[in-house]
Amino acid sequence: MMANADRKWVETHILHDGDIQFYGNLLREIEGIGADAFWKEFRRIAQEYLTAGHQGTQMFHALVDATIERLVERDRRYGYPPPFCHKGCDNCCHELVYCTSAEAKGIQEFCQLKSIPIDHEKLQRQLDSVVFDSAGNHSGATTWNDQPRGDQSCIFLDPQEKCCQIWPVRPLVCRVHLAEGSDEFCTPHNGQENAQAKGINYVELSYILSVVFTLHQDSIRKTMGRLLLNENRS
Ligand code: SF4
Ligand code: SF4
Repeated sequence: MMANADRKWVETHILHDGDIQFYGNLLREIEGIGADAFWKEFRRIAQEYLTAGHQGTQMFHALVDATIERLVERDRRYGYPPPFCHKGCDNCCHELVYCTSAEAKGIQEFCQLKSIPIDHEKLQRQLDSVVFDSAGNHSGATTWNDQPRGDQSCIFLDPQEKCCQIWPVRPLVCRVHLAEGSDEFCTPHNGQENAQAKGINYVELSYILSVVFTLHQDSIRKTMGRLLLNENRS
């Protein structure tokens, strides 16, 4: 009975006529999780985000960071090594980045405050490798990794220090990108994950990103580049 109520709430307040935008392995894990538990947790997180209003982005950035810290510590207690990720490890910063419009706004404000230039010309070149549909959303197709190596890197990656210049306001997708053992296979090829990638997938994070991706599917599909350029290309 309650599960129906949770599902109904999500369908009424979140989905309307749309679909859930699944992130990570969540869709594959639903069978093990159970439909009732899935709808309950999805609703709980969505309500938390919506209740936070314009603080939602900042609050969920902090939530994701704290969740990762907690899960890595839990794994450490079970004898698992920590993620390989460290400062100067940048292979995952050579791909298309997605963010919400609120995240893009936060990045723009941070760059203004810290006098970090936004390389609009590079963003324009990068967008030429991304296919958008007639509604102006990324269709899924890209030739991102066919660009010269210099253009494959995120505009916020410091080429000398090999670190993120907008670390405090980096998007959720950047926060949850974790790998174990090696960074060798962390760069996807034109949107396709390397089969040898050793990504760490925490279902707790997949829930959070699935909620945000579903709520903000319009802006997420525009990609970070278009949002920063405030572009309307289709
Ligand atoms: S995801 Fe991979 S490339 Fe990115 S910081 Fe972690 S180990 Fe390094
Ligand atoms: S925003 Fe920062 S962490 Fe994300 S891809 Fe760009 S440089 Fe990497």
